[in-house]
Amino acid sequence: MPYLCNIHSHTTYSDGRNTPEEMVAAALALRFSALGFSDHGYAPHDVCSMSEETEPLYRAEIRALQKKYAGSIELALGYEHDASMADTDLSFYDYAIESVHFVHPNGVYCSVDESAAALASHIQTHYGGDPYALCADYFREVCASFERTAAQVAGHIGLVTKFNEGNAMFNADDPRYTRPAQEAVRLAVEKDMLVEVNTGAMSRGYRTEPYPGRALLALLRELGGRVIITSDCHRAEWMNYAFDSTLDLLASLGFREVWAWKRGRFEPMGIQEVYANP
Ligand SMILES: [Zn+2]
Ligand SMILES: [Zn+2]
Repeated sequence: MPYLCNIHSHTTYSDGRNTPEEMVAAALALRFSALGFSDHGYAPHDVCSMSEETEPLYRAEIRALQKKYAGSIELALGYEHDASMADTDLSFYDYAIESVHFVHPNGVYCSVDESAAALASHIQTHYGGDPYALCADYFREVCASFERTAAQVAGHIGLVTKFNEGNAMFNADDPRYTRPAQEAVRLAVEKDMLVEVNTGAMSRGYRTEPYPGRALLALLRELGGRVIITSDCHRAEWMNYAFDSTLDLLASLGFREVWAWKRGRFEPMGIQEVYANP
């Protein structure tokens, strides 16, 4: 039996389509061993986040489901913390994912993953039409968040490439992109963060590669970084989206292990142990 798990999933508590229990049902149908919830922590400028009122309800519901399904699947209470927010008390949670979804030039919060049109407009309005300036700003935010966070997981490094399939908006091989991106990857390793390899943009049809992309994953491997595959699913049917092709990619880059949620913590597993179809 492969050890299948996903620690990045969203529910109706934030911007997911399905309830927590519907997500559990999907994970059970796929014979998952573990499932972690990571709804978006409250941020006033983020329409996708939980509110201050719903966060405690979210925690209570996931804790109740943990008990209800004990013995069938290991559930974990996680949290996706947006770096634009002051540090939240993470002690309520089993783990947290630290993510940058916004840049804020001139004090304006600009989402980098809302739509291609919105991103293009932010680049024009706030960065003088220079996409590399926005990318540099994004990675500055990522590095600053890694410096201060207590979260264990580095969320979707490279989210700013969501709408850049085929280098549609900028050249992701250009040093103006690769230099700050590599810095973020190096810092994640230096801080001993578990780096998620996130297939969220693949399930939505935007990308054919996970974040971080192939070149950054190769660097991560070279630096001895730790990785965990996640689907960042906002729908139950995307629970394990592109996990096997992502495992193939990691294996081809020389990774021998990936991390998983097991017995209440993150543990390394041999890459063969997690293939659904080895
Ligand atoms: Zn995110
Ligand atoms: Zn997410």
